[in-house]
Amino acid sequence: MSLAEQLYKLQQFDLELQRSRQELNDVETRLSDDRALVDAESRLAAQREQLEDTRKKQKNAEWELEDLQEKVKRISSKLYSGTTKDSKELVNLEKEVKGLKNQIGPKEDALLGLMSQVEEIEAKVKTAGEEIEQLKREWKQRQETLGQRKSEVETLLAKLEDDRNRLRQQIEPGALNTYERLRLTRGQAVVKVERGKCQGCHITVPTSQWQKAKAGDLIQCTSCSKILYLE
Ligand SMILES: [Zn+2]
Repeated sequence: MSLAEQLYKLQQFDLELQRSRQELNDVETRLSDDRALVDAESRLAAQREQLEDTRKKQKNAEWELEDLQEKVKRISSKLYSGTTKDSKELVNLEKEVKGLKNQIGPKEDALLGLMSQVEEIEAKVKTAGEEIEQLKREWKQRQETLGQRKSEVETLLAKLEDDRNRLRQQIEPGALNTYERLRLTRGQAVVKVERGKCQGCHITVPTSQWQKAKAGDLIQCTSCSKILYLE
């Protein structure tokens, strides 16, 4: 294998490593991304709190209504028992019963309103609970798929690193330095020469240059400085 070919292969390993590391990074990010589930759970918690609150209000309204009906019953029985003879007191009791009875209707309406609110929120809580179960199933499935992909990429990375290091050991340090420097400054270090042109900058490479490159010498393009490689 010529020096240029070694460096070209090294570059392919480096690019592949870069892609695989990026993929590993993405997979790990997705593995830890549970925002959808966390958001759904916090929405459910808020709905449960609202349900609790509305149920309390319903209970209170029921007690108030019972209380009111109890009072009406008590005063009515006092009114009609015949124990009270004083007409002024009787008139007052009648007024009181009437006043209390007037409160019953609105209280009943309010109670009905609260009951239907409770039903509505219960339905929401049920739906949210089902959504969470669904999200959990999806999450579990995704964790499995991503976990599998993660270990595949890790295996690939280990192999790539191994192959790359073995190749590096065969390349002379001076050439490696040039390669690393070009990668840092130009992004790409080795380019092919196709139909006599440098594929880095598309300038025609002098025949003497590409012949030397083909023979295995480390030749850099006079225009873009990249290492020339001929298959
Ligand atoms: Zn060039």
